[in-house]
Amino acid sequence: MAGVVTPAAGPGGPYTVVIVGTGFSGLGMAIGLKKSGMHDFVILEKAAEVGGTWRENTYPGCACDIMSLLYSFSFEPKSDWSRMFPKQAELLEYIKHVVDKYDLAQHIRFETEVTGAEYDDATDTWGVTVAGEGAEPGEVVRGRALAAGMGPLHRPSVPDLKGLSSFRGTTFHSAEWDHDYDLTGKRVAVIGTGASAIQFVPQIAKKVGSLTLFQRTPPWIMPKPDRRVTAVERTLFRRVPGVQRGYRNGIYLLQESFVLGFKNPGLLKAASGIAQWHLRRQIPDPDLRRKLTPDYTMGCKRTLVSSDYYPALTRPNVELTTAGIAEIRENSIVARDGTEYEVDAIIFGTGFHVTDAFADAHIVGRRGLRIQDAWRDGIKAHLGVSVAGFPNLFLLLGPNSGLGHNSMIFMIEAQVRYVLRCLEMMTSGGGSRIAVRDSVQDRFNAWVQAKSEGAVWVKGGCDSWYLDENGANRAAWPASTVNYWLRTRRLSPGDFEVGAAR
Ligand SMILES: Cc1cc2nc3c(=O)[nH]c(=O)nc-3n(C[C@H](O)[C@H](O)[C@H](O)COP(=O)(O)OP(=O)(O)OC[C@H]3O[C@@H](n4cnc5c(N)ncnc54)[C@H](O)[C@@H]3O)c2cc1C
Repeated sequence: MAGVVTPAAGPGGPYTVVIVGTGFSGLGMAIGLKKSGMHDFVILEKAAEVGGTWRENTYPGCACDIMSLLYSFSFEPKSDWSRMFPKQAELLEYIKHVVDKYDLAQHIRFETEVTGAEYDDATDTWGVTVAGEGAEPGEVVRGRALAAGMGPLHRPSVPDLKGLSSFRGTTFHSAEWDHDYDLTGKRVAVIGTGASAIQFVPQIAKKVGSLTLFQRTPPWIMPKPDRRVTAVERTLFRRVPGVQRGYRNGIYLLQESFVLGFKNPGLLKAASGIAQWHLRRQIPDPDLRRKLTPDYTMGCKRTLVSSDYYPALTRPNVELTTAGIAEIRENSIVARDGTEYEVDAIIFGTGFHVTDAFADAHIVGRRGLRIQDAWRDGIKAHLGVSVAGFPNLFLLLGPNSGLGHNSMIFMIEAQVRYVLRCLEMMTSGGGSRIAVRDSVQDRFNAWVQAKSEGAVWVKGGCDSWYLDENGANRAAWPASTVNYWLRTRRLSPGDFEVGAAR
């Protein structure tokens, strides 16, 4: 790898760890290192600000589906959340607070995008190529370990619709909201009815002239018990020891109980009954209700929470169509049933690249192994973190560490602990590299796939984004988070190869 090499972080050496990303993963990793006494790390962030998901997604109504007391670092509780379910701005504020509190700004290089990473067998280091305003031309940042927290839901996915490039109006994805475009009075099409769309549709429906919502699959939606956190609750959280922790644990257990239904969908009967009641109560029109009734088992896709989505669909200026899109013309969308909808703007609520997120990544491991070759049969990583053939590379929220039922921050914290244990195992064994054994990764992946057989996202009758084109589960953790916590807590030395550079 040619080019400028960033000067050694400490005297005589590269950074101990190069971290990518300033979302919960990258920042959690940085804090973990600091708490372990390791200060020799850099965080590379392509944007000009911290925050990841909660910086990027600024669409109207953007909020978390997990209650605030749980969707936050366990070691950094916030007792003054304004709402039960935090909105984007408050989450971003929380993340900035974490950066200040743990003095992380000095480690971050903004506008520094990682464009590739190559492992050097001779020195057991990663050479990370960077670009952008914050980088020198051709710069390579070197680290003994590379912790990649690029985000599992970070690359917006836009469907390849016939004629899309001929559209003359405005188009944007929910994760790249165009705040300069005034939607007031406009004829707007929204494509997709997933987690983001059900949050922004009620917000924009109030101001647009007309809204046509193109739905492929209706989501299961539970009522959202959101409200302001009362002053009394905040005082209790702040003043009475254990109350906030107890509340958090209670929410965790409630969320975790949904995992039982993944293997035994019958157990979700009560929950799906509540969702059906919610739909009946909010949608009086039987035709509209029929279109909004899922025909797959609850849990197959992420179950959503909203109390204002259904009412928005009953507005006279909103139309839901399930006909599918035939083509896009200069000023309209033509549905498969032949109806032509004249629109000024198209907003994509079509989610993110997940199972193909690394398709173009330039990551080269030991002996020139490209990640695409290592993953020819599908993306996989031991416990979602370590990839065989790629020593000292740690993926944060990598393959099969996604959750449909609980807080991702729980997984991040478990993974950070796992990475620290790996580094400890490597250095205490006098090594300069640690890699998971092929056989261990294969065994783990076989367990994931076996565990996923019969699971609701495989058998539930939906087209789940957890699955790749061959139907293998590449995204979801297939068991309880307690199981994950236990597996990442103690590492078995026999699972890893520790070695030293020649
Ligand atoms: C709209 C939305 C709602 C969500 N709601 C929930 C929820 O309710 N509950 C839940 O548990 N999870 C939710 N999630 C998932 C959420 O992404 C995770 O909870 C968590 O925030 C992921 O953190 P992260 O740090 O891994 O990734 P991100 O927050 O995506 O951060 C990744 C960071 O890496 C940077 N980056 C990426 N590529 C590069 C590169 N090549 N070079 C340099 N920097 C790079 C990005 O700019 C970004 O700052 C939601 C996600 C979205 C998109």
